[in-house]
Amino acid sequence: MAGKVWFVGAGPGDPELLTLKGRRLLETAGAVLYAGSLVDQATTLFAPPGCEVRDSKDMTLEEMSAWLLEQSRRHACVVRLQTGDPGLYGALIEMTRPLTAAGVDWAVVPGVSSAMASMAAAGETLTLPEVTQTVILTRVAGRTPMPPGEDLEALAAHKTTLCIYLSITLLHKVQEALLAAGWSEDAPILVVQKASWPNEEKIVRGTIKDIKRKCQNEKIASQAMIVASPTLGAADWPDLIRSKLYDPAFTHRFRKASAPAAISTETL
Ligand code: SAH
Repeated sequence: MAGKVWFVGAGPGDPELLTLKGRRLLETAGAVLYAGSLVDQATTLFAPPGCEVRDSKDMTLEEMSAWLLEQSRRHACVVRLQTGDPGLYGALIEMTRPLTAAGVDWAVVPGVSSAMASMAAAGETLTLPEVTQTVILTRVAGRTPMPPGEDLEALAAHKTTLCIYLSITLLHKVQEALLAAGWSEDAPILVVQKASWPNEEKIVRGTIKDIKRKCQNEKIASQAMIVASPTLGAADWPDLIRSKLYDPAFTHRFRKASAPAAISTETL
């Protein structure tokens, strides 16, 4: 039998944040390989009785590829369940290449990434009109070096929203890079650990100066997203530039303006 391997984004943790497509594939899977250190096991409960469910946390990449290959010979649908979105720090291509080489069909189902889940958990927005319209998803160099031009200091110079993955144990590097790029030490920083995990999520708000100490106090040393953004705290700002799309004075394809033009700012 020539089965197909699906790389499915499990989302950030809450099984309800899996896509409908991901859930349907899990429900029909003959074999599931899940990233146990980051994917809540509850997600695998969608797999049918008799499905072979394997945690990949103690496996090497070669062992995972071999397992997926072997299962694809026995089952029509094989699922590799990955945290968040499979295309972000997911070793996706390393796993798909051996499948392609062996003539096994594969496809990717996107997932809710932890950056989105972290901002949602905190009631924050990634973009805000005339504040920032750009989001950078990045990390700092750990054992994996950063390619030229991508060090955090250079990226932070844009003063956009920065979602920093895989870096909670390197918070001092984040602090240094932001300060070197000209951010104020009072600039707000958000850290969310286990965003969306039922009963385990932790939200820490601080500034560049004190975020490290606050995370130490909360014993946050893994599975955490760091967000630096000029949008943080906007829910409490006294003045806000409105989004044009919902402005009564703004006409677009689906709605005619109902109020005189030139209302662009509003005091809440
Ligand atoms: N593909 C994943 C990222 C995998 S790399 C995604 O799209 O989210 C692992 C890193 O993701 C962790 O170091 C942490 O920075 C972040 N992460 C994963 N799950 C998280 C969660 N539930 N809450 C906060 N950060 C999370």
